[in-house]
Amino acid sequence: MELIFATGNINKVKAISTMIPPESNIEVKPMSSLGITEDIPETQNTLSGNAKQKSEYLFDKLNINVFSEDSGLEIEALDNAPGVKTARYAGEQKDAQANMDLVLKNLKNSSNRKARFRAVISLILNGKEHQFEGIVEGKIGLEKKGKNGFGYDPIFIPDGFRHSFAQLPTEVKYGMSHRKRAFEKMIEFLLSQ
Ligand code: IMP
Repeated sequence: MELIFATGNINKVKAISTMIPPESNIEVKPMSSLGITEDIPETQNTLSGNAKQKSEYLFDKLNINVFSEDSGLEIEALDNAPGVKTARYAGEQKDAQANMDLVLKNLKNSSNRKARFRAVISLILNGKEHQFEGIVEGKIGLEKKGKNGFGYDPIFIPDGFRHSFAQLPTEVKYGMSHRKRAFEKMIEFLLSQ
């Protein structure tokens, strides 16, 4: 079975392809393989709404099986911000350092540093939409630590660890990531069909 991933980020396609059990016969291809290279609009105010908007956009163009993914960081003491604004928390320039600085500033006087990464996948299979959620729970560190990864990795410490996502080896992070957890649920669903 072939699925088209509604993303312009080839690294996401690669990361997800490594999570597919070889015996499953599922093949994930980037939308660029069908000549689609434009930015897909994400204008909803929830991760779930954005994921649906992206998969529907691609389905409307291609009329084949597609999926999309939207993820964000939710911080309890900040009423689940940055949430849907994760990429552009400190402004439209989408600067990871500025985003982390703003989180650390907003949590300066907070002893509750509980946070989670949440990913929502929207799959359109034979014209019907299904959603899958993946969560990794953790907390926001007191300062940035580590060089691996991207985004908020230097300030996110997953539960059960003393190190940030950016300090942990990439395989360890990938192994427990919100994206992986959501994707595993989608694969399980597809295999049950
Ligand atoms: P996207 O929906 O996957 O593009 O993610 C939105 C934003 O969430 C990204 O720009 C990152 O800032 C942040 N983000 C998502 N996943 C991760 C992660 O695994 N580590 C760090 N930041 C992440």
